[in-house]
Amino acid sequence: MPILAGLLLLMLLAVALGPQWWVRHVLRRHGVERPDFPGTGAELARHLLDEAGLHRVKVEPTEHGDHYDPDAQAVRLLPQHHDGRSVAAVAVAAHEVSHAVQHARGEAAFALRWRLAGSLSWIDRVAGILIVAAPIVFIFVKIPALFALQLLAGFALFASEIVFHMVTLPVELDASFSKALPVLTRGRYLAPADMPAARSVLTAAAWTYVAAALATLLNVARWFRVFRF
Ligand SMILES: [Zn+2]
Repeated sequence: MPILAGLLLLMLLAVALGPQWWVRHVLRRHGVERPDFPGTGAELARHLLDEAGLHRVKVEPTEHGDHYDPDAQAVRLLPQHHDGRSVAAVAVAAHEVSHAVQHARGEAAFALRWRLAGSLSWIDRVAGILIVAAPIVFIFVKIPALFALQLLAGFALFASEIVFHMVTLPVELDASFSKALPVLTRGRYLAPADMPAARSVLTAAAWTYVAAALATLLNVARWFRVFRF
């Protein structure tokens, strides 16, 4: 029995943390500096945005993960992608620019995803409060069923975020493979030998949110994020 429980726990760990580990591994592996590249991720993003006629969209560095912010109309890149010259920097820059293109074209799936994503921070907060408060409530009211129900509701809310990101995955795949990949191929921004690596990075970029949502299930630090106002 303990062996079975151990195996189950290992499987749970692999399912919840495996994808995020893989995304980070791919980005690190292809994040090796390449002095032979003519420009940084930020410079390529600027160039691609201008090519698409999106002169007003800004390119900025961020510490909070690569993303495109439709409200601020800004492509934001991590320092290693903003200032770095690597396959990861090139592919991530092209992926985030593709979101700006989806936005500019008024693509319905992108608009819906962005509107709904706004409510995720609230789900995050409520789920965190439920889980973190469960033991405290239990000390006072001593009802095991309530304790279990609170934990269950908290995890169900976190799980709903995974479903949301799975459902909206087509928007991410479109950014990576219908927009960024053709642009990189057509513009010959990378040598053919670097294209397989770029494909891996584009896949990882598309799965980033699903991987992060899965990891949240076991990421204790993120449960407690609710208290950071
Ligand atoms: Zn994306």
